[in-house]
Amino acid sequence: MSQLENIKGIGPKTLPLLNRLNIYTLEDMVHFYPYRFDVIERSNLRDANEGDKVIVDGIVQKEPLVYFFSKKMNKMTFQIDTGERLLNATIFNRAFFKSNLHVGTKVTIMGKYDKRHGSIVASEIRLGLLPPIPVIEPIYHTTNGISSNQLHKWILSSLDYLEEVNSYVPAYLQERYKLLDKKSSILEVHNPRNKSSLNQALNYLKYEELFLFMMKMNCLKKYRNQEIGIARDIKKEEIDEFISELPFSLTEDQIKCISAIREDMNHSFVMKRLVQGDVGSGKTIVAVAALYMNYKSGYQGAFMAPTEILALQHYQNLLKLYKNTSIKVELLTGKMKVKERNEILKKLATKEIDMLVGTHSLFSEDVVYESLGLVITDEQHRFGVAQRAKLKEKGKMADVLYLSATPIPRTYAITLYGDMDVSSIHQKPMGRKEVITELYKEKDIKLVLEKVEKEIRNHHQIYVIAAQIEESEDDNLENVTKLKEKFERALGKICKVGMLHGKMKALEKDQMMESFQKNDIQILISTTVIEVGIDVLNATMIVIFDSYRFGLSQLHQLRGRVGRGDSQSYCILISDREVERLHVMTQTSDGFKISEEDFRLRGSGDLFGTRQSGDMNFGLADLKRDYSILLRAKEDSMEVLNSEEYQSGKYFPLQEMIEKSIDLD
Ligand code: ADP
Ligand code: MG
Repeated sequence: MSQLENIKGIGPKTLPLLNRLNIYTLEDMVHFYPYRFDVIERSNLRDANEGDKVIVDGIVQKEPLVYFFSKKMNKMTFQIDTGERLLNATIFNRAFFKSNLHVGTKVTIMGKYDKRHGSIVASEIRLGLLPPIPVIEPIYHTTNGISSNQLHKWILSSLDYLEEVNSYVPAYLQERYKLLDKKSSILEVHNPRNKSSLNQALNYLKYEELFLFMMKMNCLKKYRNQEIGIARDIKKEEIDEFISELPFSLTEDQIKCISAIREDMNHSFVMKRLVQGDVGSGKTIVAVAALYMNYKSGYQGAFMAPTEILALQHYQNLLKLYKNTSIKVELLTGKMKVKERNEILKKLATKEIDMLVGTHSLFSEDVVYESLGLVITDEQHRFGVAQRAKLKEKGKMADVLYLSATPIPRTYAITLYGDMDVSSIHQKPMGRKEVITELYKEKDIKLVLEKVEKEIRNHHQIYVIAAQIEESEDDNLENVTKLKEKFERALGKICKVGMLHGKMKALEKDQMMESFQKNDIQILISTTVIEVGIDVLNATMIVIFDSYRFGLSQLHQLRGRVGRGDSQSYCILISDREVERLHVMTQTSDGFKISEEDFRLRGSGDLFGTRQSGDMNFGLADLKRDYSILLRAKEDSMEVLNSEEYQSGKYFPLQEMIEKSIDLD
């Protein structure tokens, strides 16, 4: 039995729900932190204005009335006396709460004040009068079937149940920063008394979170350097010869990257290198060279892309670039027939295939490599710990190369990719012209269409991006379906228009992309499914409708779809709303600067959120806001890791925790 079931209210039904929140033990439970705190202060209705959010105490005057609109939608109304005036309260979808409310019941309600009618539309209702001092209420992210309140109660019971809470910060560090102790911090954060004590608690807990994170990063790096990988003997001349036969000459940064990779591969440790470079900076060729070196030293390679479209593109690229070699490349896709797939798997196991391209399916259970030496993953497709474990099983200690088009500022890179080596490509290939970026209002659509037409007449192709697929979500936004009709009406005589979106079948999507690549279609209307990596040199314009809806990095990624060949390219941003990031887009096309701005505007959450790695989801800390704590934690974790105390096992719960969390086998 799980310890959790000792808590009143937790049973076989709720346990799986808690597991969904990653709560398996009492220890997990008390470490499940609130994501926000609501400060509840009483309002004085006399000073409140029409429409203000207010919190008032009152006594129920009449039995509540409930109206059902449908099975799930209902409305409850009742009257309370605040001592100052009578208020009519309405609250939606709380019919179940009716049995708690009777004449004379004391309640505190929060909601929007309609002064003129003397009423309030309540968003929250609490039984009993809350104490008159400001109450700080922790609010939890939860899952369907468990309310924040319920979770809160369970956390408090778990705190009672647990005699000890493991503290992971060594005592001397706690001393150094005059931090509150762990147990008090946890108690406070789940049951805040006032703002200053809450802040003290948050200081400890954020520090602990970031400290553990950096411990893990540094530890991984240390272990990796001890792991025995493949030592190879790739000669500089071998790769130079390959490079000299490419259809273009490489940039200095590309050459530097390839050279760093060669050194890593020749070394006996396991390579874990990230190549970060702006969209269009030419990361793929670096991957191609790495795969070539891996092949030359006698190993198989795997090239993993985030989507099937991209996998296909990489596959075709490899075929082209390895044309004059005897390298055998294959593509593994999800829609392959069983027989076809089995054929490939058989050849893979007997090393009749040298390189396999595909999505994460490259690491499915049944995919067995004869001698995997290198894994490349494209576009921020980071391996989680679980995937790394699988990898280790398959290839013993294959080298790993990551490609990322979301360059991040150096300081952040050092910390966040603490367990990797990082190469950056700053230069664009020679002869590239900067994409011209312009902002338009919707009423100027005619001007935009004229520009589109001009490009078409120059035999170029165009991407058009919409925020949604069809009308359903928001009428004010353009959608793919409608735009397709509009563009067909306007330009259908001189070109073909196609569309691409996430609801299409994989096969349809691939076919559409292929038609665009072959220039059978000149205008492609799409959602952001084309966001990553697509490379069509003849596309010279991208028009983005409702562009205020997109994040800065996303806009930059989209813009990166054009300007990949030698012709002048354009990015047209259409937006009726003024937002700062659109102006940033017109001012710079440097991905490193853009990501710096993105940090400034949004914080780090979106960049390092779930998209990159589950390892970077912090409960309380925010990498941007708490960056100074992160830097301290980084220094301190190195200090601890290298200390004699740590090595001789004195920091017990810490050591156990770290070792458990980075255990790859
Ligand atoms: P990304 O870094 O966004 O993945 P790609 O690797 O797809 O960029 O490269 C973008 C385009 O530039 C491709 O068509 C590629 O063939 C081309 N390219 C890459 N390196 C060079 C270079 N040194 N000179 C000219 N073209 C290059
Ligand atoms: Mg790419």
